Amino acid sequence: MRRSYTLLLRPTGKQAATLTQCLEDHRVLYNAALEHRRTAYRKAGVTVRYGDQSGELKHIRADDPAGQGRWSFSSQQATLRRLDKAFAAFFRRVKAGQKPGFPRFKGRGWFDTVEWPKDGDGCRWDSQPEHPTATFVRLQGVGHVRVHQHRPVLGRVKTISIKREGSRWYVVLSCDDVPAQTLPAAGAVVGLDMGVASLVTTSDGEHVANPRHLHASADRLAAAQQALARKKRGSKRRRKAAARVGALHAKVRRQRLDGAHKAALALVRDYGVIVHEDLRIANMTRSAVGTIEAPGRNVAQKSGLNRSILDAGWGVFLTVLAHKAESAGRELVAVNPANTSRTCARCGHCAKENRVTQAEFACMACGHTAHADVNAAVNILRAGLALREAAGAA
Ligand SMILES: [Zn+2]
Repeated sequence: MRRSYTLLLRPTGKQAATLTQCLEDHRVLYNAALEHRRTAYRKAGVTVRYGDQSGELKHIRADDPAGQGRWSFSSQQATLRRLDKAFAAFFRRVKAGQKPGFPRFKGRGWFDTVEWPKDGDGCRWDSQPEHPTATFVRLQGVGHVRVHQHRPVLGRVKTISIKREGSRWYVVLSCDDVPAQTLPAAGAVVGLDMGVASLVTTSDGEHVANPRHLHASADRLAAAQQALARKKRGSKRRRKAAARVGALHAKVRRQRLDGAHKAALALVRDYGVIVHEDLRIANMTRSAVGTIEAPGRNVAQKSGLNRSILDAGWGVFLTVLAHKAESAGRELVAVNPANTSRTCARCGHCAKENRVTQAEFACMACGHTAHADVNAAVNILRAGLALREAAGAA
């Protein structure tokens, strides 16, 4: 199996400055190569190819030993190949009769990643294995950069990339031959209801919360987005507000991913068959239903924004869950969530009135009461098991 690991880098101040320079030089190289292709094509109708540009690299490096010459030949080739891919996609679309935009110059802040295509070539993962407590990655021209390795890296490291996100740096390892982590078979089955108060609620009555600070960050992000919308275009304040929105976005993304990993891991460990809502259908019905079921909020606009920020976590959660389920040999079933929140899990009576409040379910027909999300999760589980049976898997 192939998979990638994204790990936080902890560069020293000097290394961070060098990493910035490394990105900047690769960006300049990308733009220069783009300019070269454009001019050759416009003035002489000549198509410049990757091979031609790669052949030029030697001279570019020799002419600028303190600049371009510092970095890895291979990472520069990877940057030229990236441009080549952009052109290939452009010509493919032209050929298909579409009107694609010409590949663009990358402005500052629009070039945030550099790849080394092969471990050991201008870069080295785990470059100081004898270090007792820390992990390092060596990057040509930068040195041994400390890595915050929060999970083991399995398999064989193929490519190494660095990525800038706001003021943070990450190393992305793409690994081959990663062993599937098969857990002992779990016979248990579970249904999941996805919500805002809890990320997921299980049919066994467990509520899996979003990470502790996510709600606060989402609030702050919603406020920052509103503040940004009020600022005048092109103003200094607007630029500042935009940077704040960007930083908060990155923070929310990290917290969301962290929560998704934890929740998914626990579920995959405990259950063999996991039934969840089909998100494409859920999103269509939920936006309409949500406003009726959560009335009386006078901060509607902001809470709507906040809510949509939290809602976006479901996609991340399901992606992580699918990944972990595959790796552990678990079965995932997606079902249409229509009516699962208003149907009684005991007698099957379906009515809007069953749902007393956001959290409370009370059946008008048989008197069954339950937490509304648990009731929904039980219905989801039942729908999933029926679907499975119909498909002959049970
Ligand atoms: Zn009932």
